[in-house]
Amino acid sequence: MAYLSTDKVEHHFHDVVIIGSGGAGMRCALQLADAGHRVAIITKVLPTRSHTVAAQGGINASLGNIDSDHWHWHMYDTVKGSDYLGDQDAIEYMCRAAPLLVRELEHQGVPFSRLDNGRIYQRPFGGQSREFGEGGQAARTCAAADRTGHAILHSMYQQNLRAKTHFYQEFFALDLITDDEGCQGVMAWDIAKGEYHLFQAKAVILATGGAGRVFKVTTNAHICTGDGGALALDAGLPMEDMEFFQFHPTGIADVGPLITEAVRGEGGYLLNSEGERFMERYAPTARDLASRDVVSRAIAQELRDGRGCGLNKDHVLLKLDHLGKELIMSKLPNIHELALRFANVDCTRDPIPVQPTAHYTMGGIPTNRFGEVVYNKGRSKEGVFPGLYAIGEAACVSVHGANRLGGNSLLEIVVFGRACGNQVMKRLREHRYHPQLDTESWQSGVERVERWLSAATENRQGPGIADIRLRMQTIMQDHFSVYRTEDVMSEGVQHIEALAAEMEHAVISDANRLFNTELIEAMELENLMSLARVTAAGALARKESRGAHARDDYPERDDEHWMQHTLASIQKNKVKLAYKPVRTKPMTVESFPPRKRVY
Ligand SMILES: Cc1cc2nc3c(=O)[nH]c(=O)nc-3n(C[C@H](O)[C@H](O)[C@H](O)COP(=O)(O)OP(=O)(O)OC[C@H]3O[C@@H](n4cnc5c(N)ncnc54)[C@H](O)[C@@H]3O)c2cc1C
Repeated sequence: MAYLSTDKVEHHFHDVVIIGSGGAGMRCALQLADAGHRVAIITKVLPTRSHTVAAQGGINASLGNIDSDHWHWHMYDTVKGSDYLGDQDAIEYMCRAAPLLVRELEHQGVPFSRLDNGRIYQRPFGGQSREFGEGGQAARTCAAADRTGHAILHSMYQQNLRAKTHFYQEFFALDLITDDEGCQGVMAWDIAKGEYHLFQAKAVILATGGAGRVFKVTTNAHICTGDGGALALDAGLPMEDMEFFQFHPTGIADVGPLITEAVRGEGGYLLNSEGERFMERYAPTARDLASRDVVSRAIAQELRDGRGCGLNKDHVLLKLDHLGKELIMSKLPNIHELALRFANVDCTRDPIPVQPTAHYTMGGIPTNRFGEVVYNKGRSKEGVFPGLYAIGEAACVSVHGANRLGGNSLLEIVVFGRACGNQVMKRLREHRYHPQLDTESWQSGVERVERWLSAATENRQGPGIADIRLRMQTIMQDHFSVYRTEDVMSEGVQHIEALAAEMEHAVISDANRLFNTELIEAMELENLMSLARVTAAGALARKESRGAHARDDYPERDDEHWMQHTLASIQKNKVKLAYKPVRTKPMTVESFPPRKRVY
């Protein structure tokens, strides 16, 4: 076993360590740094390359700049959108806080697009309504053209530089350091220099983003490998609701880059091979602006029925040329560029070929609405894991339940980034000093790296990383896609488990310590594999259709048996499933009871 003593690792002491410099990590860091705490952000890429930068369409808040709006209507839409699996206390908290947080972003420098009267521009997005579904479509999504995430992330970075947050960039988090008292810190690897760094902290926050790279065709960046979830699983904690993976209806066919829902918000619509606006059949009222699970299933159904376009009849068309060049170039310039680059289509003239594409991880590390990581403690009790927090797409609060509404994720990251920061401050008041760490406590992080490097040094033979990754992504894509059945999924579980076993013999060929990207990809694949395993097992077990989890063999939602969250952990190298009830009681208002979901 590789063993490292204290003089071989650089030892850092911070009040708080945040893993991830996306919108969630940076909003949280800002809250803490502005209050005078010593905050570190560890990020495996340069801060502004985090996936938040790719967010296009916007962020939801009931500002009511276009037409009257109310946070309670936003809450209703979110609960309905979640197919009643969302926790209503967290949803109420988020929707109430939204207007404040968006105005705050504006003051922090986010250059939102403007209406003629100078107010923040808002566009309609899927699943948005007024007056609890009775008042027609709402326009609730605040946008900076179609580059809203870019604007938010850069403003957050600038604010953090001002607030003197410490950035450790191109550092890869290897392992959480935990003991009987909770989480004490993180072991990390400096990618450029190939050195170990031990971070000791009174609070550790996982803000590592989503895991879209579990699937083959995804809108997610290569870095979206769910590392925080895997760290939590490694620490013996469960993942919540991982079977709910959002397929965005409009990824560019074959390649995946996202064409934002804003295109449909601005008036674009979908066509099948017969030139029919088929969404009118599936969602007579909301049509192309029904929620994402509904639109993705409608497209999948059109393809199944042979009404797909192209030689392989494997996509549909998104038409927007009728919006006019001026609107497209001012409100959707990024889409114009993406369509040109990835589909060779000038969307001011021709429709864009699109298909449902893996997009968003609704599940994640279970937390309460303060960002504290929670786990099942006995039958009906929930325990808090001391010193460990999770926020953003890595977490499952759960505000999105079985299906997220567009524009609610940028909102989630700022709302819970801030809330978590405030909660951490309470802990910091009680935990003033860093405890002495046992040298043993960080050796497993060292082991993780040395295992791969020694295989390369000794030139050991075994399956390669790229090969296993592609096989894993293909299994997930083929067996856990938009429509699911028992046979296909149980075969998928077997394949994934066999591949995970094979992974134990995998090797890399590059033994270099400096900027070894193959090593990083190997560890990311370890992380993805753990998440694929819990996703697959959770999906097979859930015998109903709800939100993004649509089963041909159980086509109905089953509230009697399945209105509960899945908790999947890996114990003794086996996936174990447990469940916990949905929090149906909001903070102050009345609960929205489950109803049939029609758009
Ligand atoms: C193409 C696209 C468009 C989107 N558009 C919208 C939209 O318009 N509206 C909306 O509401 N939502 C949108 N979303 C979703 C939303 O952008 C994301 O859910 C959200 O930005 C995630 O933010 P985050 O801070 O949780 O994580 P991210 O921004 O993904 O950041 C994760 C961070 O974790 C770090 N990290 C991860 N693993 C490690 C490790 N092992 N060691 C060190 N650091 C690590 C990374 O370096 C990174 O800094 C979109 C998503 C995509 C993919």
